[in-house]
Amino acid sequence: ENAQLKDIISHAKEYGFVFPSSEIYDGLQAVYDYGQMGVELKNNLKNLWWKSMTQLHQNVVGIDASIFMHPLTWKASGHIDSFNDPMIDNKDSKKRYRADVLIEEKAAQYEADGHYDKASELLVEMGKLLGAEELDAVRDLIIRENIKCPISGTTNWTEVRQFNLMFSTQVGSVAEDSSTIYLRPETAQGIFVNFLNVQKTGRMKVPFGIAQIGKAFRNEIVARQFIFRMREFEQMEMQFFVRPGTEMEWYNTWKENRKKWHEAIGIPADSLRYHDHEKLAHYANAAVDIEFKFPFGFKEVEGIHSRTDFDLTQHQELSRKKLQYFDNDLNEEGKPYGNYIPYVVETSVGADRLFLMTLCSAYTVEEITEGEQTKTRTFLKLHPALAPVKAAILPLTKKDGLPEKATEIFDSLKYDFKTIYEERDSIGKRYTRQDLIGTPFCIAVDHQTLEDNTVTVRDRDSREQVRMPISELHSYIDKAVNF
Ligand code: ATP
Repeated sequence: ENAQLKDIISHAKEYGFVFPSSEIYDGLQAVYDYGQMGVELKNNLKNLWWKSMTQLHQNVVGIDASIFMHPLTWKASGHIDSFNDPMIDNKDSKKRYRADVLIEEKAAQYEADGHYDKASELLVEMGKLLGAEELDAVRDLIIRENIKCPISGTTNWTEVRQFNLMFSTQVGSVAEDSSTIYLRPETAQGIFVNFLNVQKTGRMKVPFGIAQIGKAFRNEIVARQFIFRMREFEQMEMQFFVRPGTEMEWYNTWKENRKKWHEAIGIPADSLRYHDHEKLAHYANAAVDIEFKFPFGFKEVEGIHSRTDFDLTQHQELSRKKLQYFDNDLNEEGKPYGNYIPYVVETSVGADRLFLMTLCSAYTVEEITEGEQTKTRTFLKLHPALAPVKAAILPLTKKDGLPEKATEIFDSLKYDFKTIYEERDSIGKRYTRQDLIGTPFCIAVDHQTLEDNTVTVRDRDSREQVRMPISELHSYIDKAVNF
């Protein structure tokens, strides 16, 4: 199965989707750059999300907060004290692991072998020990389960230590003025601290949401699986502020809404599933992940969490500013509790994981027969709304006025769609190149075009060609790329 991930990684590199960061220096672990095709795909994903949040919902508005925040933010949110992962080193290989991940992998192995009870017992035991911060007992568990280092094959483990995932740096140039600040590990806090600014200036009435797209940073202990787990990544979060007591209703609404969204961008329903959290974070009263079937198994893409009033209450306490909402409707109903701190339901998805999911789901290798021959064809079956390039305009030859005609078509489409003009190589090779980057339509300009202003449009998925007037191209593409 991981052979498929390898193919996808090399495809992503070869066709300009994702490059290792600073590759000429042999890369930087768990950091990646998006190339000329990748940035288009990622922007399309982000724009669709943004639109579906802030345009399709009257009561959701966006903000763009800074990465740096006042250090007390992270005290209030609990990140300074408890945004930790339990870390363990193998003394022989000198490799570092997440103790919980080692145990989870063991449980997955039990499950694969049909020992479901053993698997869940192990997970429950781990949850209890970690919850109680009994780190020595976590190590004992690893030894008892005979969990070996994947590299050295030994069980020569160090003690388990908590490792804080936040990156810190100094702000201020003079030593005595400088203070430690953090790169935000989640975008959510930028929304919480702006809650009243947005509510008041936007005259928002509960229930309402604030959406944001932005970078987040985590010093992940083990960074593996390509862009699935990175140290610098992008989050798309929406915090929805509701009346206390209505949070479960909204939690269920957003849970359904978000899964439907993933299906709408072209992810097959049977590759998606919900996974309820066994162990809730300190701030949550309900939490579920939407998981996608990656080549390395079902893994989280998005989290939906009912965060209660934890964050706003904490910020109210540390900032000593009232973060309450005056609910006029409740007041008019004669209820005495018109002033309250709203509860929060959040949806939190990683743009990069979404990208990887989209790529894994779109990557298609099929057998095709051409005459007597069978061969394989690789293409990206991306929803046209997501495709980096919507149409390629291809003059059949480089002479007879075909390039000029094709350029004219390019110019008529370029204001509304990302299109490319390509005249090099045989038409077959050009079709193949477009398949590999997922372009839904190839528009071929031939001699007949000069006579009757019609072109052929080749469909990426069926490889079928239809002839149509140039004047119809715009609405044809528009219909397909609309989401
Ligand atoms: P995980 O359990 O995989 O570490 P998490 O539960 O800590 O993830 P959240 O804090 O809920 O993740 O973050 C919300 C979303 O942000 C995740 O669903 C994921 O899509 C994305 N995300 C979190 N950490 C990373 C990372 N290191 N690299 C890429 N995306 C990430």
